[in-house]
Amino acid sequence: MVQENRGRNLALGVSVCMAVLSLCAAAILAFYPPPATFSGLIPPDNPWVRDGRFSVSVCNGVQCKLCPFKCFLPEGARGRCRVRINYGGRIKTLVYSKAVSVHLDPVEKKPVYHLYPGSLIYSLASPGCNLRCKGCQNWEISQIYPEQAARTTLVPERLDVKVAPETGRVYGELKQEEIATLSPEEIVSYALATHSRSITYTYSEPVVFYEYMYDTARLARQKGLKNVMVSAGYINREPLEQLLKYMDVVKIDLKGFNEKFYRDYTGAGLWPVKQTLLTLKKNGALFEIVNLVVPGLNDGRESMAGMIAWIKKDLGTDVPLFFSRFAPNYQVANIGATPVETLTWARNAAIKQGLKYVYVGNIPGHEGENTYCPVCGRILVKRYGYAVLENQLTATGGRCPHDGTRIPGIW
Ligand code: SF4
Repeated sequence: MVQENRGRNLALGVSVCMAVLSLCAAAILAFYPPPATFSGLIPPDNPWVRDGRFSVSVCNGVQCKLCPFKCFLPEGARGRCRVRINYGGRIKTLVYSKAVSVHLDPVEKKPVYHLYPGSLIYSLASPGCNLRCKGCQNWEISQIYPEQAARTTLVPERLDVKVAPETGRVYGELKQEEIATLSPEEIVSYALATHSRSITYTYSEPVVFYEYMYDTARLARQKGLKNVMVSAGYINREPLEQLLKYMDVVKIDLKGFNEKFYRDYTGAGLWPVKQTLLTLKKNGALFEIVNLVVPGLNDGRESMAGMIAWIKKDLGTDVPLFFSRFAPNYQVANIGATPVETLTWARNAAIKQGLKYVYVGNIPGHEGENTYCPVCGRILVKRYGYAVLENQLTATGGRCPHDGTRIPGIW
């Protein structure tokens, strides 16, 4: 009898718990509904879906091998980046031709300093990212599901260069268009029509819109445009090496030099990013590194000195290195901007170690904005913010006009 009562009480307790849990789940879903999923995953119903690359079938699912997270995806599941899904046992990208942010920028804004100084670069992003950086400057597009993105985007279509009859001043008139899809062919044609010399895959994380970037880059190369990937470098070796066939410059955001900081701040590890940099070096790619210095988080002198020493030893002294100023943002809006002295200290420390091209970013007017000849010390490219005031490298094909030193880059 006692046994029977116990059994009944237990069953009642379980039922009550289940009911409470169900109520809680219903309440959570009412306040925080999950994003609507794509109803028709297959084109033409959904123009942004294509087969994804780099995956293997494993145990009733697929494993994505594009980035070091190597997400295992059962049927219908999405990866950590929110834009890759297992649909029908195959990996699909959900953002092919889904551009959410498209602009015509000066190349200095990327920042990329060793590619056509003062030129325009056609810049675009799709939604999604595999990292979770607390200070992300573009979190509105990187930390969303593609369904949450605006359905249409304004894109630069043509840039007409005009001369004001009264003053003789030359100015540009930009024509823009509202679009829902932006194909690789359209990107290349708009880049040419806006006098861009290159295209960059940027703002969010281009690794997670790999197929879109790859096809665009291949087409752009055929039309004589250069390609630039601005990335956190969280990508596996094979996809990276395949991409390098078409990528002219790679900009890697090396966020710090401490595993714990990397895990806490980005949700990812430092080691794979170092591997990416080593792969770039091994493949002879042209690449630049930027380190956003966040006060109190990654500005320890020892850690910064360690980063500089590693770059010198494993990547060489020719790699352009930027120390950029952090501005309060997103989940670390309580942290103040980086003091100028910290950035100046880091730049001086890198120069002292023998690095030849060390820059300071986001401080207009800082001497660290210029490119100097590592032999004679003269200014070769003088900048102020995103403006190029003087450029001695284009006319010489990248050589110092004073002593002939070859400066790495595309000039
Ligand atoms: S790209 Fe996306 S789905 Fe693929 S492993 Fe990385 S986070 Fe996962």
